[in-house]
Amino acid sequence: MISVFGSANMDLVAYVEAAPGLGETVTGREFRTIPGGKGANQAIAAARAGAEVVFLGAVGDDAFGPELRRTLAGAGVDVSGLRTVPGPSGIAQIVVDGQGGNSIIVVPGANGAVTAPTEAELEVIARSDVLLLQLELPIEAVTAAARAARAAGTTVILTPAPVQPLPDELLDAVDILVANEHEAAAITGLAGHEDAARELRTRVGWVIITLGSRGALTAAPGAGPAVRVRAPEVRAVDTTAAGDTFVGALAAAHVERQSPDRAVRFAGAAAALSVQREGASTSMPSRAEIDRSLA
Ligand code: ATP
Repeated sequence: MISVFGSANMDLVAYVEAAPGLGETVTGREFRTIPGGKGANQAIAAARAGAEVVFLGAVGDDAFGPELRRTLAGAGVDVSGLRTVPGPSGIAQIVVDGQGGNSIIVVPGANGAVTAPTEAELEVIARSDVLLLQLELPIEAVTAAARAARAAGTTVILTPAPVQPLPDELLDAVDILVANEHEAAAITGLAGHEDAARELRTRVGWVIITLGSRGALTAAPGAGPAVRVRAPEVRAVDTTAAGDTFVGALAAAHVERQSPDRAVRFAGAAAALSVQREGASTSMPSRAEIDRSLA
């Protein structure tokens, strides 16, 4: 079983030809509200990829809260432990341009109220095979969850986004770090991703640096230097949540004890399917689709 201790946001997505610069106004071609948040996205990606998933976090008591809860439940994610707190749910304001690139502002809302895991949440984490963490909850809560998981023998997978300084107590409790190239460079201060992978590997057993359409660099425990796994060649229309789809699918593969190499290919296949569709959770592939694309 996978537990996700993370954020749920309503994504407010505007589709434009070219994103506006500072002080500029542009007319978009479409607007949608799409349930998202890195935590919820990874939870849905893992459930679609075939895993049993429990989501831990918080939504607000506004109109978005029940919708976020329904969306997770509708994807088969257990939301019995999801808190409802007073005030607004988290939101992410996303601009997707004509090339499929995106820029994002996150306002934490209810996610910011999760300052520590509760006893009940710690109990779920301890029972899990894998704990998925991102940095859209307060970092002290993420750190406490990671440490509890480590103590219980639960595999901790961290996506260090949005990027920020990582406390040693957090990094020391991480088993698998999945960073994109910007995050890897920001954490290590090293521009080259091979150098960044080598540096991160001195702290974490398994390091994966995702490289967009160029695939992912993976340095697994017991393996030699980092190797690049190519991404399937596809036509990307919206890369929102490609990274979250990758991580959710990776976690599902890990729970099934797929080898690190196979798990990265499985995750890459899932992410490549997701970039061919618009949206975040709405773009994530089913297990059948992933299996078909790998056949
Ligand atoms: P996002 O922030 O958009 O969720 P990210 O920056 O966290 O993404 P990326 O490195 O862009 O992460 O992408 C994650 C993974 O998704 C890549 O390692 C790759 O497997 C897959 N991917 C992303 N873009 C493409 C693409 N154009 N074609 C095929 N696969 C892709």
